[in-house]
Amino acid sequence: METLHVAVVGAGIVGFATALTLADRGHAVTVYDPAPLSGASHHAGGMLAPTAEVVYKQEPLFPLMTHAARWYPELIELTARYSQCPTGYRTEGTLIVARDRADRTHLEELRTYQHEHGLETETLTTRQARALEPALSPALVGVVSIPGDHQVQPRLFTRALADACRAAQVEFHSAAVTDVSSIDADQVIVCAGLGAAEIGGWCDGDNPLQLRPVYGDVVQLRVPANLAPLLTRVVRGFVEDRPVYLIPRQDGTVTVGATSREDGRPVPVAGGVHQLLRDAIEIVPGIEDCDFIEATAGARPGTPDDLPYLGRVSDRVVISTGYFRHGILLASLAARCGVELVEGRAPSVDLGACDPLRHRRSR
Ligand SMILES: Cc1cc2nc3c(=O)[nH]c(=O)nc-3n(C[C@H](O)[C@H](O)[C@H](O)COP(=O)(O)OP(=O)(O)OC[C@H]3O[C@@H](n4cnc5c(N)ncnc54)[C@H](O)[C@@H]3O)c2cc1C
Repeated sequence: METLHVAVVGAGIVGFATALTLADRGHAVTVYDPAPLSGASHHAGGMLAPTAEVVYKQEPLFPLMTHAARWYPELIELTARYSQCPTGYRTEGTLIVARDRADRTHLEELRTYQHEHGLETETLTTRQARALEPALSPALVGVVSIPGDHQVQPRLFTRALADACRAAQVEFHSAAVTDVSSIDADQVIVCAGLGAAEIGGWCDGDNPLQLRPVYGDVVQLRVPANLAPLLTRVVRGFVEDRPVYLIPRQDGTVTVGATSREDGRPVPVAGGVHQLLRDAIEIVPGIEDCDFIEATAGARPGTPDDLPYLGRVSDRVVISTGYFRHGILLASLAARCGVELVEGRAPSVDLGACDPLRHRRSR
């Protein structure tokens, strides 16, 4: 195999996972980012949830998400080969719960849809669910178990990836890239999240990427010693049709997320934080007694059809962005397929729906 000098633009989870995979294959890798880990990856929940996150009428996403979940253990193992840092990878599984009858109807519809697409779930009684997770509210009216939906702790995992990249001789440049033609490298892969829409030098005319920020408020709590461990599985719920999730971490914290807003406000909004905590308490009453650590807001890099932009756009440039709500999960696919594209090999999964130029053509 030819050894290449590859520039990776952007140091979020996608850039780091791609850089590490490239370096592991013997390439010389340089990562460019003026503020590593300052994007969506820093705020994400970290659910690896191809089944719970199945989205109506989003059939092209299913194979991407299920392949990404299958490939995740490889990415975790690769990271562990180069770094001792923890990743927060947990495989206890996920429960989805309903708070009232309307929410249960929503849950049943979701389950039917999941089954139609061959995704594995199991209905539990509230009693069975509370035997697994005693902190769940006795007032819940429906529970579905998804053993195959796992989690990482994104801030830990991205730090471990960064550490692994350093151990694998990846170089870092604390600089923003405005034009890829100014970079001295055989190949460039643009993993700059929302910033990719501002980077030129790879297309005729305007940058065709239509990325938009979809903000999410998210809250971090600490479980007091007398309640620990509050939960072991990820618990997702519908409360009056609003989605909420609780992600228990090995370090005794719980992440509660996330709202979804396109109002351009990059800070946590009081009403969003209030709604998340109120809904989380409905599902797990012990949340009320947890210590409040912080609330933050992150911007998911959304595209018009909610599918990523992943593909080769010139002899020298590959685009890898637009991972929207699923970029922590899809990082394993982004790294694997991104490296295949950089090396000029056929990607392991059909990326026809992810063509980075598809929205230019439709204008
Ligand atoms: C609240 C919230 C909850 C989420 N929960 C989940 C979840 O549970 N599961 C899941 O799978 N996904 C989740 N996501 C989505 C996930 O976080 C994103 O899809 C993912 O982090 C995108 O990663 P990225 O590396 O592409 O982009 P980012 O993490 O945004 O990183 C992009 C990087 O590029 C750099 N950059 C930008 N412009 C330039 C430039 N010109 N030159 C050099 N560098 C540049 C930035 O500084 C940044 O470091 C969530 C997102 C949010 C906001």
